[in-house]
Amino acid sequence: PEFCRHCMQSIEYFFPLLAKPHKAVITMHQKPDGDAMGSTLGLYHFLKALGHEVVIISPTNWASFLNWMPDCNKVIDYEANKEKSATIVNNADWLFCLDFNVLHRTKNMEQLLTQAKCVKILIDHHQQPQEEAFNYGVSDTAKSSTCEMVYDFIAASGYADKLDVTIATCLYTGIMTDTGSFRFPGASAHVHRIVAHFKDLGLQHSPIHQNIYDSSLENRLRLLGNALLNRMEILYEYNTAIMVVPKSDLLKFDAKTGDTEGLVNYLLSIQGIKMGALVIDRDEERKWSFRSKDGFDVNAFAREHFEGGGHKNAAGGRSSDSLDVTVRKFKQVIQQYEAQLQ
Ligand code: 5GP
Ligand code: MN
Repeated sequence: PEFCRHCMQSIEYFFPLLAKPHKAVITMHQKPDGDAMGSTLGLYHFLKALGHEVVIISPTNWASFLNWMPDCNKVIDYEANKEKSATIVNNADWLFCLDFNVLHRTKNMEQLLTQAKCVKILIDHHQQPQEEAFNYGVSDTAKSSTCEMVYDFIAASGYADKLDVTIATCLYTGIMTDTGSFRFPGASAHVHRIVAHFKDLGLQHSPIHQNIYDSSLENRLRLLGNALLNRMEILYEYNTAIMVVPKSDLLKFDAKTGDTEGLVNYLLSIQGIKMGALVIDRDEERKWSFRSKDGFDVNAFAREHFEGGGHKNAAGGRSSDSLDVTVRKFKQVIQQYEAQLQ
């Protein structure tokens, strides 16, 4: 079909465009995690190998445990380079949006991306994407990670021979982080076959696990210890654990971007707990993270009560209320989920 301005066409209609050199911008959700950074860098190396001019722009800064990734130092932080970023976006032919479903997940970049006149392509695995904002795309909540989807994109593009160990290293990172190191249900046979393919290409997986998970500074563990000891509350009647991190803790333990990553998972490690909720008192907002096991749908919960969303078992949200007020609201709204949480 011809280029369509108002509907998102299936990604295979995009592949023929790869044959001629274009200017591409790739972006991801704010505060990129392993999957956001891995998928954008994986696609970046692939498009570069095809001869395109490619720039990655992150809406914000990111955790330092991602800095080892190949060419991570070339990623532009929008907040620190607004004018330069605007020029690049406005001159681009293509805008790839990876690992997010709605443009406001790019925070202060939303306006720039909305008004951009170029072809917009979505590759994402979150629920309920804003399809009208994209010309081409693939959205599949069954996928473990956006990195898995970039692998599929490369495999189907007609240029699968360009997949090399650098791309594999980037994509492995997001597959690993978004599957909880291959433990979540999304770690399908296909995912394991992809990893086998990466190994055949020469991927060394152990250093990746170390770079991501064994690179904390002492203060991060002290922050975690304090949170587990003093900031956790178990609401047994709702099989829910909540952790509330005030700004004073972030200051005391000198928390950097990424230092609170993974905190919420400790809540779900408690026997019988079906929902874990973490709220962090950030400067600009109270940022919620929700996790669940068994049937409880935190995507619906976050969407309904905390301006957020994500996946059924992992979602995020936000509030402009004070920390006390948003925690009180949480304790109030879970009362209506008592039956679902049994
Ligand atoms: P986290 O708790 O790690 O920040 O996010 C968990 C999952 O939910 C991730 O897949 C993340 O991309 C998604 N997520 C986090 N915050 C939001 C949000 O405000 N809106 C939406 N739609 N998804 C979110
Ligand atoms: Mn993801």
